[in-house]
Amino acid sequence: MNIPDVSRLAFSYAMSFLAYRTDRGPRPFSAAMAVTNRCNLRCVYCNTPYMDPNDLSFDQSLTVMDRLKDLGVSRLGIVGGEPLVKKDIGELVKEAKRRGFYITFNSNLTQYHRKPEVFDDVDLVFTSLDGDAETHRAHRGEKSYDGVLEAIDDLVARGLPVVAICVVGEANAEQAEGLIQQAERGRFKIHFQPQCLDTEIVRGELDASVRSEDLRRFWAGLLEQKKAGRPLASSVAYLKAQAEWDDFRVSAFSNPGLKCAAGRGFLYVDPQGYAYPCAFTKGQTEGINLLEEDWRQAFSGETPCNVCNVGPMMEFNLLFEKPLRASLEALSRIA
Ligand code: SF4
Repeated sequence: MNIPDVSRLAFSYAMSFLAYRTDRGPRPFSAAMAVTNRCNLRCVYCNTPYMDPNDLSFDQSLTVMDRLKDLGVSRLGIVGGEPLVKKDIGELVKEAKRRGFYITFNSNLTQYHRKPEVFDDVDLVFTSLDGDAETHRAHRGEKSYDGVLEAIDDLVARGLPVVAICVVGEANAEQAEGLIQQAERGRFKIHFQPQCLDTEIVRGELDASVRSEDLRRFWAGLLEQKKAGRPLASSVAYLKAQAEWDDFRVSAFSNPGLKCAAGRGFLYVDPQGYAYPCAFTKGQTEGINLLEEDWRQAFSGETPCNVCNVGPMMEFNLLFEKPLRASLEALSRIA
């Protein structure tokens, strides 16, 4: 990441943070833009491929990007579904780069070999590894491991930072250690996130045998690994919060008096151009059509919850609650 990119990102985050802390209107520095719900996989905990398969046209997608830029967004997360199933994904990424976004790209990487050039303008890649090949296939399907490690190797060789996300549905310390060692060997980082429940974009339940106290111990173990310098992308504050999470069958709730930065510091846009404070709130709040409305005017400032342990959102909220430590750690993730 070069100095102008870091400065742009830091400035945009600082403006967002100031607006949030002084209760001014929304000034999100980050947006997750889902370019499609379609996906070549059917992971057991994901509902996205069963949702509306219609995407915005290319020009409409550019309009959404322009609206996000105008709002102050500097970090654009391209997510799905699986973005690589989109025919025009390479052009979309180029257009995002032309607009000066810092681009993160979420992909299962099984189609990487067909379109490696899409990643020429990407700044950070998020992918998925749920454990060894057998565990990964059990969670994500028979072909979900094909070519993934090779793609990670190639991306790392190209100088791109890669973070593999492991969804934690059970206390599986053995898988965690294997993944951390794999990350050490492969020079990428690993991020653990709890299986998210009770929202439109996920499906499934935690197995009845899973106990929150076991999961808390699991997360406390990861915190120790992080402190020991192992390649965990997750921040210390995030791991600590997970290690203290009361009930892993509840992903989000409202606690009067607390604030959530969703919608003001970051937001989510679905493949039809509707924006929500975060992906978790889709289906729980009315979407705002970014092609027709201005988020600053249309967003009420209300969110259906204000505390969550949802992987990416908890990290984002920490950027607004513990700004110094969290932003230094975020920088180390992308450097
Ligand atoms: S607490 Fe905030 S970020 Fe978390 S799910 Fe609720 S609205 Fe989204």
